[in-house]
Amino acid sequence: MKKTWLITGCSSGFGRHLAQEAAARGDEVVATARNLDTLRDLAQRYPNTVRLASLDVTRPETIRAAIAMTEETFGKLNVLVNNAGHGFMGAIEEATSDEYRPLFEVNVFGLIEVTRAALPLMRRTKGGRIVNLSSGAGILGTGGRGYYNATKFAVEGLSEALAQEVAPMDIRVLIVEPGPFRTEFLGRSIAVARQKLEAYAASGGAARIYRESNDGRQLGDPSKAVAVMIRAIDADDPPLHLPIGPHAHSQAERKLEMFRRDIDAWREMSIATDFD
Ligand code: NAP
Repeated sequence: MKKTWLITGCSSGFGRHLAQEAAARGDEVVATARNLDTLRDLAQRYPNTVRLASLDVTRPETIRAAIAMTEETFGKLNVLVNNAGHGFMGAIEEATSDEYRPLFEVNVFGLIEVTRAALPLMRRTKGGRIVNLSSGAGILGTGGRGYYNATKFAVEGLSEALAQEVAPMDIRVLIVEPGPFRTEFLGRSIAVARQKLEAYAASGGAARIYRESNDGRQLGDPSKAVAVMIRAIDADDPPLHLPIGPHAHSQAERKLEMFRRDIDAWREMSIATDFD
């Protein structure tokens, strides 16, 4: 059976690759972007199965319109991919609220609004997949990336809860946690704190240097990452957590080790806290 997909942020990177791959295998795709000019070629190549919708995850009316168009055109929604997102480099003290709040608007509240708008159609479809783009940064916090970490940790918690809520409806949630992949992410999709404090040279400063020296040089091939995502989406029993790439895997291992060490070292004292 052909699957019907709705993907946010298809102008470039993972979203673009996913839309292309899904369309190439004959699935129905609602490819969305803020600027539809970035997607015209895809719609021309697959005129019967690809529809374009202008969708900015911070504008609820565009979300509602894209979901309505999906239902009118295809009558169902099997795979929702919450991919739209951007990044931010800078230490916690360096950034100001006008810099970090927009990150939450897109990565967290945008994802929530798209999910809430899509769920009624997904429930009527009876079964499907919600794929939420987190990051290795959603597994392990790193100095200089704290605000991005915070948004992706929010995606993780929300997704784990959602997975339990929608399991009875045969909807499965996948949290995709890529390491560094060569998309537009480190270029136009990442902002840097205006304020630079010498005290944070080793954290905020290192993140800035990482961005400058790694854009376009990331080892991860996004088409290979997308192939893994599609295998997982198609699986009868997909994983809830899916780190992709060696870096994300080592972050997951480090997190597990650190968590285990702290829990074990403090177990006796920290569990003796119920009323006598
Ligand atoms: P990308 O090529 O820069 O793509 C980011 C996409 O998000 C673009 O299509 C962008 O659209 C879209 N977007 C940003 N704000 C939006 C909004 N308000 N409404 C709708 N779309 C919006 O980077 P990418 O790597 O593919 O990023 C996709 C996801 O992967 C993000 O959630 C990112 O956090 C995650 N991720 C990436 C990496 C990596 O190394 N590449 C690693 C871990 C996680 P515009 O063209 O309109 O800006």
